[in-house]
Amino acid sequence: MVSLTLTNLRFMKKKGMMLLVFIGMISCKNEIKKTTETSSSIIDSTQVRKHLYTLASDEMEGRRAGTAGIEKAAQYIEKKFKKIGLVPYDTLSNYRQTFTFKNRRTQEDITSSNIIGVLEGKSKKEEIVIISAHYDHLGIRAKEGVLDSIYNGANDDASGVTGILALAEYFKKVGNERTLVFAAFTAEEMGLVGSRHFGKGIEASKFVAGINLEMIGKTPSFGPNTAWLTGFERSDFGKIIQKNLVGTGYQLYPDPYKKFNLFFRSDNASLARLGVPSHTFSTSPIDTDKDYHQVSDEAETLDIAVITQTIQAVAVGTKSIISGEDTPTRVVLEERKNN
Ligand SMILES: [Zn+2]
Repeated sequence: MVSLTLTNLRFMKKKGMMLLVFIGMISCKNEIKKTTETSSSIIDSTQVRKHLYTLASDEMEGRRAGTAGIEKAAQYIEKKFKKIGLVPYDTLSNYRQTFTFKNRRTQEDITSSNIIGVLEGKSKKEEIVIISAHYDHLGIRAKEGVLDSIYNGANDDASGVTGILALAEYFKKVGNERTLVFAAFTAEEMGLVGSRHFGKGIEASKFVAGINLEMIGKTPSFGPNTAWLTGFERSDFGKIIQKNLVGTGYQLYPDPYKKFNLFFRSDNASLARLGVPSHTFSTSPIDTDKDYHQVSDEAETLDIAVITQTIQAVAVGTKSIISGEDTPTRVVLEERKNN
């Protein structure tokens, strides 16, 4: 039998440690591989194309809040929520959180609904993660000499709504420890009206994170398999996502368009103002996007692979937040003077 000198012992201990680390790395790699495979098997481009082309079709008449067009979109989302098996939110009897507000610009009184469905959590059901997008857009605006008057809003934000429908189906299949609230907000284009209304009725401390999807249909300036996040420096939410994406080939960057103050220009802001670490994922090259808020924002201009990969990356990237392993720091806010 080998006489075990102290040095041998130390050597063997070191070897043992290295082996453990190695095994750890392998299992972690396998874990990422498994999650990525699962997300790409459940979140597929056929389903993505169907949702996108339906929500961005002329039939939806540009989904302006308070119109027949948005009502058709609301019914489509409700039908999908039901099929996936989501339950109504809080004390609501169905998926609609309906309210009336005055449009600041036109002074009209508009009645509209947020469409909200819930996947109750298992071990951490008191803790809520909200996954949102806005399902309204600009509607129909006839312009002299312009044939096409429908603002289809394919990228803005039918692509995001497509994302929440696909993520609801994904998490229904893989399970969730924390409760997931899927919210299709109305009247975002009229001043974040739907998400502000939602925010008024919540206990913000219960909301551990907000994942908002906005314009995920175009290849970003960073290149394929990338997205950017607003308010990256305002909580460690972004860093947690980056950590979970290591080894997947997909990368998340901080929002590169600081001058546009985008953190305050989408529905994440309504929850962030309450301290919730709520951020927007986007892929769009904001400063060069010629279709932004134009009638040309049609489904055909978007890349289905980009949308599908981004949704899969959100599924994998948020895994440790939805499982309860990671809890992002609360958002600290200071309003910028120039917005
Ligand atoms: Zn939008």
